[in-house]
Amino acid sequence: MTDIIDGNAVAAEVRDGLSGAIDTLDDAGVTPTLATVLMSDDPASQTYVSMKQQDCEEVGIEALDVEIDPDAPAEELFDTVADLNADPDVNGILVQMPVPDHIEDRDVIRAIDPAKDVDGFHPENVGRLVAGDPVYKPCTPHGVLKLLDAADVETEGADVTVVGRSNIVGKPLANLLIQKADYGNATVTVCHSRTDDLAEKTRRADVVIAAVGVPELVDGSMIADGTVVIDVGVNRVERDGESTLVGDVDFESAKAKASAITPVPGGVGPMTRAMLLYNTVKAASRQADVPVDL
Ligand code: NDP
Repeated sequence: MTDIIDGNAVAAEVRDGLSGAIDTLDDAGVTPTLATVLMSDDPASQTYVSMKQQDCEEVGIEALDVEIDPDAPAEELFDTVADLNADPDVNGILVQMPVPDHIEDRDVIRAIDPAKDVDGFHPENVGRLVAGDPVYKPCTPHGVLKLLDAADVETEGADVTVVGRSNIVGKPLANLLIQKADYGNATVTVCHSRTDDLAEKTRRADVVIAAVGVPELVDGSMIADGTVVIDVGVNRVERDGESTLVGDVDFESAKAKASAITPVPGGVGPMTRAMLLYNTVKAASRQADVPVDL
């Protein structure tokens, strides 16, 4: 029997686990606050931001909604970020990416105070993660580690193949998995679009994690029996005349061989959202100097 790893259930546990910390902060007069900055007309970006705000409100985090006209000059975004950096009531800042073409994503990431960088993308936070001393683990990789834990997957000594080397998923995930830490100590192979014979790398893995952005790239023929398969991908495709979501893994053929697998939707996606809440609570605790149990 293949274990279907239920990301909604694990995410609910993470969210429930934050309530004690939020109560402790509340007793100290601190309401964790996340500022979301949206500078886009893209409906998907708008939906992501409103979901994040709703998540915050549900657990008792205040969501500060900042919207900037996508045609506004870059200074307006940088001035906004500077104001949020300076605002003692704001604990976390999330600028929804991508920003308009006249602004570089990386300049925005560098403008955010690392102490409020709850995405964990600022070079200081990336450096700390690589050095084995992370403050804010990026939400998707952190969510994947929590899923592996919840599914009782032992990473120590395991061969893990990560397909994808982006700065937001593949690279930080690979770095976390090789650390001398819980859910680390794995031997990691990182694959990308120039990898020769991808199937050979996925077939020899105990755990395959796909973060590619190519619908159903990894199928059952590419994994060994008993593999744990984590599908980060979210791709909208047309099937039988209808728009539907699929991952980077061909679920049915992979499930036939996997010992455990995440579905799309309902796998990694809810974990990414939950870990943003986790990082925001952590940011509030650090900034207010109120220790909490996380
Ligand atoms: P990027 O496009 O930034 O990176 C994709 C990576 O996949 C790149 O490293 C690329 O290689 C590699 N790649 C592309 N094609 C192939 C191929 N044929 N074989 C092997 N490697 C390949 O994507 P992201 O990391 O941002 O996102 C990956 C997926 O995860 C997307 O579907 C995205 O929607 C989803 N996602 C889901 C989240 C969630 O919460 N569930 C959160 C974030 C992302 P190269 O570097 O050589 O170009």
